[in-house]
Amino acid sequence: MTTAHSTREWHARAGALSYPTGHFLDGEHVLGGGGRFTVTNPATGSVLCEVSAGTAADVDRAVASGRRAFARGTWRRMAPRERLGVLTRLAGLIDANGERFALLDTLCMGKPISDMLASDVPAAATTFAYFAELSDKIDGAVTATAADAFHYILREPLGVVGCIVPWNYPLLMAAWKVAPALAAGNSVVLKPAEQSPLSGLLLAELFIEAGGPAGVFNVVNGLGEATGAPLALHRDVNKIGFTGSTEVGKLMLVYAGQSNMKRVSLECGGKSPQIFLADLDDLDRAVSYAINGIFGNMGEVCNAGSRLLVDQPIAEAFVARFIERGRTAYRAGDPLDPATNLGPLVTAAHRSRVVGYIERGKREGARLEFGGDIPDLPGSYVNPTLFSGVQNRMTIAQEEIFGPVAATIVVDGLEEALRVANDSTYGLAASVWTRDLNKAHKAVRDLEAGVIWVNCFDHGDMTQPFGGYKQSGQGRDKCLESLLGYTQTKSAWIHLG
Ligand code: NAD
Repeated sequence: MTTAHSTREWHARAGALSYPTGHFLDGEHVLGGGGRFTVTNPATGSVLCEVSAGTAADVDRAVASGRRAFARGTWRRMAPRERLGVLTRLAGLIDANGERFALLDTLCMGKPISDMLASDVPAAATTFAYFAELSDKIDGAVTATAADAFHYILREPLGVVGCIVPWNYPLLMAAWKVAPALAAGNSVVLKPAEQSPLSGLLLAELFIEAGGPAGVFNVVNGLGEATGAPLALHRDVNKIGFTGSTEVGKLMLVYAGQSNMKRVSLECGGKSPQIFLADLDDLDRAVSYAINGIFGNMGEVCNAGSRLLVDQPIAEAFVARFIERGRTAYRAGDPLDPATNLGPLVTAAHRSRVVGYIERGKREGARLEFGGDIPDLPGSYVNPTLFSGVQNRMTIAQEEIFGPVAATIVVDGLEEALRVANDSTYGLAASVWTRDLNKAHKAVRDLEAGVIWVNCFDHGDMTQPFGGYKQSGQGRDKCLESLLGYTQTKSAWIHLG
């Protein structure tokens, strides 16, 4: 994958890029029966393209296509090693098409092209490679029985899986759902977010190029309720793998109950605390993780470290260092400029929401240390923002802002830090910074979150279960557990005469 282009070259490539804008059904790009919706490039505010708005009938077609493929059994009954081969080739094709993927997601949702190339694209390829490797390791079991019986347990795919994903990591969030669902032998209907509808279509096309059978991987584009609800309510869908807001995640449970009791896994919002204790090893390192943990990807990260719980003895130095380095670490700019590390927020409406939270923070008495303003650029940008003097009951400490807004809360030692950290409806991720092994282990035990980091933030690999406690969701992405979530067990008890 070539990555060393100038801004001018990236713009030329973006201008020359052609891409489908419909659905992908039964191995083909189609336009579908509904109208079209508009995708705006958030870096410029201008229209990028018009995309097919999926209707309930389009969803029916996609599910029927997946169901037919499942019944034919070409994919699920394929020798697992062959399935492994297809998904491994797909991983290679993601890498080979890295520039196209990078451009598609950057143009739709404003992520810096350098982040796409350094992070999202390789991570998506690794996701497919990892689950490919697990394809022939989905073992059943034989249990101990009396001599008159033979009992074995099979692990089988579920059927048709609906994958409903958000816009903040369009390619990667799709990969986290689609790869394990396919590796387990299911058919898939992917519903990308309406803000970022293009990379999912390329992914499905490459599945065919990798040797995957038509109908196994379908994509229906469209608006949340108009397209997502018919998919989640569909009686022929066996599971919904959802990543998105807590509010819509709760609807998925309702849809499952109103229809066929399908399985639901939910990866939802977060308000992740980072605890910085007075005995931490290296303040500079800790502060740079704090800065990246909230300003990276414009703060549009489910596990963003948005609450900084700083031990009283180091609070002043911590905030001073954060101001010194954080004010200039991220600069808003053209996401197609390889030097840019802060793109626009995904839409103008989302920017208004983020700015609303900043205003609320000021009104509720937090101290604005820097940022909070809008840079002089045409797109939906907001500058990185730091609040100090935050109380955990304030709105900016309780609600997910999904923007580059950090809230510093001073705490008095580990016990209070843990109390404040857990005083949240969310529980996706958390970190603790300390040299004291006892405190680190206590924090790991007591923090109510699915992912805990000690003396780092956002580290991990594919073996790490990723998902939340409390209203951050249920179910795990990445990891073996995720793959098993796309399977069901069948017990066969054989009476021996
Ligand atoms: P969202 O909930 O608005 O949308 C997510 C998906 O659901 C989109 O595809 C959308 O079209 C669809 N949708 C919306 N309304 C629907 C409805 N009524 N019925 C069916 N489908 C519907 O979320 P978003 O704004 O796209 O993404 C941001 C959210 O995603 C944040 O809350 C973030 O924390 C969360 N997120 C979580 C993780 C995680 O792993 N926990 C990862 C990334 C993002």
